[in-house]
Amino acid sequence: MPGVPLTSIRGIGPAKAAVLESGAAIRTVEDLLYYTPRRYLDRSELKKISDCMSGEEVTISGVIKRAASIWRSREMFEVEVSDLSGTITAVFFSGIRFFSKIFIPGENVLLSGKVSFFRGLQMVHPEFDFLDETSIDRALNTGRIIPLYKSSMELKKAGFDSRGFRRAVMQAIEHYAGTIRDPLSDPILERNRLLPLEKAIRNIHFPESAAHAEEARRRLAFNEIFFIQYYLSLRRMTARKNFSRKSGVRSVALAESFIKNLPFALTADQAKAFDEIINDMRQPFPMNRMLQGDVGSGKTVVAIAASLVCIESGQQAAIMAPTEILAVQHYNTAIKTLPQQVTCGLLTGSTKQSGRNEILNQVKSGACSLLFGTHSLIQEQVNFKDLGLIVIDEQHRFGVQQRATLRSKGSITDLLVMTATPIPRSLSLTIYGDLDISSIKEKPASRQPVKTLAFPESRLQGVYNSIRRYIDQGRQVYYVLPLIEESEKLDLKSAIETYNHLKKNVFPDRTVLLMHGRLKQNEKDTVMESFRSGAADILVTTTVIEVGVDIPNASVIIIHHAERFGLAQLHQLRGRVGRGEHQSFCVLVHPDNIAENSMERIKTMTETEDGFIIAEKDLQLRGDGQITGTRQHGHSVFEFMDPGTDMELILAARREAALVTERITDPELEILEPGRSWGLHGPGELRTGHILAMLS
Ligand code: ADP
Ligand code: MG
Repeated sequence: MPGVPLTSIRGIGPAKAAVLESGAAIRTVEDLLYYTPRRYLDRSELKKISDCMSGEEVTISGVIKRAASIWRSREMFEVEVSDLSGTITAVFFSGIRFFSKIFIPGENVLLSGKVSFFRGLQMVHPEFDFLDETSIDRALNTGRIIPLYKSSMELKKAGFDSRGFRRAVMQAIEHYAGTIRDPLSDPILERNRLLPLEKAIRNIHFPESAAHAEEARRRLAFNEIFFIQYYLSLRRMTARKNFSRKSGVRSVALAESFIKNLPFALTADQAKAFDEIINDMRQPFPMNRMLQGDVGSGKTVVAIAASLVCIESGQQAAIMAPTEILAVQHYNTAIKTLPQQVTCGLLTGSTKQSGRNEILNQVKSGACSLLFGTHSLIQEQVNFKDLGLIVIDEQHRFGVQQRATLRSKGSITDLLVMTATPIPRSLSLTIYGDLDISSIKEKPASRQPVKTLAFPESRLQGVYNSIRRYIDQGRQVYYVLPLIEESEKLDLKSAIETYNHLKKNVFPDRTVLLMHGRLKQNEKDTVMESFRSGAADILVTTTVIEVGVDIPNASVIIIHHAERFGLAQLHQLRGRVGRGEHQSFCVLVHPDNIAENSMERIKTMTETEDGFIIAEKDLQLRGDGQITGTRQHGHSVFEFMDPGTDMELILAARREAALVTERITDPELEILEPGRSWGLHGPGELRTGHILAMLS
């Protein structure tokens, strides 16, 4: 079937085909089959018109009674829609010519939007969709669900609202679904209780019930995961065949003596991560590992120990940090703790030309064996004699391309990326599936747990009272307010107002300071210095308090409008306290009435300090896109898979893909050879291609 043109569907001529291509990237009949409903509507979501109230967001369905352009100080278009209970009027101020063509009395229409009251119930510029009578009837009378397709004005003008798609897809299924080849064998389907692909495609479009739709989604999600896993294991297999270095490890003596001389013992997780890294370095193919652990979990010493192993084997190591402050900090720690024979270098944007040339020469000759730096490390002029290991700190701050460039500076270069934002397991098995993962979950024993409490604003006075108590005990307090780009001006105003209020009305007898991003660098420095020295009690601040700020005596953090922060950000903010000997507190203040989802985030914070649990919860509450930074228009990188809930499916697909890769020469599985049809053409293939591109 691949490649059957759209024009072979009745009712689609070259003009409509062109619109489907430009408006929805649908080029073939197969693409059309994979253009699956954006969502389903069931009876319970449809509101009777007589039950609609002003201000409510609703979806109603009814018959168009009247549709006409009228003049009421300006031209507008009114569509009167009735169900058995009442009448509502849709009003449009633009696109009148188009609307007068499509809103035809007698047609069934679905309207979604906010209800207002103006000479009767009305909706201004509602979303609309046309449905055939049978589908509405069936939904209302038999409790079926109605598929709704993603559309646009352009598509609608060509007749492709949900009704248009439904008709076209219905035909495509009638004539072509029978030719869909299932890439998965029957045993795989049976073992995992999966629908055959053909059935899944039919049911995703025209499910009898919500349960049917879910069954179909599950099958398509399995496809999505399976092929990623399959691709990953094939790639891994090829990579392993193509590399043949002798072990990258000659001796670990240098690293071990470094560890022994540390003023503390490694935690069990640190030791385990170090073992996993050495084990990778012993392989004939390069390491590809991620080391994840909360801020302060001690990733740096592990990275340095790994570098020493590489250096002792006669190669060079590079450690790249996202900011100059961090690069300098790493470098300073290293020169203090490393043995004399290890020559370290530092290369950042502000390294002066003369010093720069000297370092570049040392790197080239091999005299410098451990190079610290920022993005500067990936510049063309940086040539290593023999680069064996690259460590990338805070990896999410760097692009895939930068990682690849740095890697190309060595021949067989081990890669260790580090992150303080744990990756939920469902994602580490899929889009991050090419990385092996080491986790440091245990914190160094010296770190104290932080007590986290949540209060509604009506109890703000009580919060102020406790702040006063902490100050009386000699502690210092961060008072954090949100500063979110879209409403920057308003937020800044509210930060300044809060500062004035606290300073004048609540703590007139205490020292309160203000910090925000608009201050000049020297002003910021002055504020930070004065807070650090203990001269001030309260620091009112937006989220700009710089990364790495470490003030042990500041053991209380109040986060006002906690509902406006994401979980990851709340967790990072909380990491500012709990650094000294005193019991630390994190207090989350929120409006008395907040959305359930926001309350859930706040509750999660009060229940756990574990960055891993928080990352999982974040995924459940927000979806994956915002974590991977790829979410577009509310869509995840995955079309069918839900990384928040599909863990079991992911494990199953992974198991099956591993089996298939193992038996790749098995003639029975010939259909799975690369280059053969994977049942994922058109949008399906594009999506998978997109994910694969991210992985490479
Ligand atoms: P991160 O994982 O955030 O990069 P760092 O490596 O910067 O954490 O470590 C934070 C601090 O904890 C450093 O001062 C480091 O010396 C210290 N540290 C690291 N490991 C341990 C340990 N096992 N016991 C006590 N302190 C440790
Ligand atoms: Mg770090």
